[in-house]
Amino acid sequence: MARARARTRTTVSPDVAARAVADIGLYAELHLHLGGAILPNILFAHMQRDGHALMKRYSTYERFERFFTRRRSGLADYLKMHALVERLQRPADQHMFYFVTRLVRGAFLFDNLAYMELRHTPYNRTDAALDMRGRIGQMRSVVQAISAAASAQPQYPLVLRQILCMHSALPREVNEAICELAIEMSGEHEPMAGYNGGVVALDLAGPNEPYAERIDEFVTLFRRAKSRSSGSLKTTAHVFETRAGCFPKLLPYLDRIGHGIQIPLRYPKLLSRLARDGQCLEVCPTTYLRTGTLRDYTELRPVFAKCRAEGVPIAICTDNGGLHNVRLPGEYENLLVRDVIGMEELGECLRASFRHAFAWKGPPPDPLRRVTIPR
Ligand SMILES: [Zn+2]
Repeated sequence: MARARARTRTTVSPDVAARAVADIGLYAELHLHLGGAILPNILFAHMQRDGHALMKRYSTYERFERFFTRRRSGLADYLKMHALVERLQRPADQHMFYFVTRLVRGAFLFDNLAYMELRHTPYNRTDAALDMRGRIGQMRSVVQAISAAASAQPQYPLVLRQILCMHSALPREVNEAICELAIEMSGEHEPMAGYNGGVVALDLAGPNEPYAERIDEFVTLFRRAKSRSSGSLKTTAHVFETRAGCFPKLLPYLDRIGHGIQIPLRYPKLLSRLARDGQCLEVCPTTYLRTGTLRDYTELRPVFAKCRAEGVPIAICTDNGGLHNVRLPGEYENLLVRDVIGMEELGECLRASFRHAFAWKGPPPDPLRRVTIPR
């Protein structure tokens, strides 16, 4: 037995060994919120260590976990989870290092990620005791704290970029400042641009209700981001996720579409325009079950089928992988075992996630060769 093992070892060529080291990740995560990326047990451990005031409300882990796993009545109720996590993650200079270093470690070791775009509303991680101007002034340091943590562990070589989210429930002045910060920090004069943890895109998140009456304001901000950044700042927005969130006016200003599932489901005529403009949908399957938008993963079948027929690419993402406790490989598997996608579509979605990543250089990584997927 020992001899057989020794013989096997000598047959492994140096080339193969080198490739095993180089092939470091299979997946690209394009839609992940900082508020939803962290597992509840990591949040709870930090809360305990910190002696956080929320320990009074959630004195045991079971209570804390129950809050995250209870059934939600809709998107607005679902977003309350983010509000609670944001309280634990601010101020950023004290807490962000802990969360982001653990996130990177887990994503690299357990989720098999090669690339991640992490999104957040920087204003919501500033010191809540300050006034609005003071908080706006602190936003840059939130982004810098995340970038520093993203680069702190060279042993987990994950490519990470930040997406800054405007928020539908925040005042115009704050969203303007977030837009300006994203333009500035993605620009060529920004020392962080192009480095791990740098800013690559602007997003719009938050409840759907305020969208309708503020839509022109949001269009103006996206137009400004596009015209002022000369292409260095990309755009995406949470839109066409629910029936109440369908705003075609935003589409011309987006490089990717956050969710967008209502387009193939209810507005399929828009698909040819998306295909023409090369816009990719960021589809986050488990979210739609948690918000009550869909009842079952199988309701996504027409989403994938219609997009494929029209040539609209889809990147499969988790949105809030920690809070859902469904990691990115699990989202692919959930769809595959229910025949929502087959192996061919799985390969297409994997490739689309790297091709439409805002900062992935070159072709999708080698691990795709581990399985033979028809092209
Ligand atoms: Zn989202």
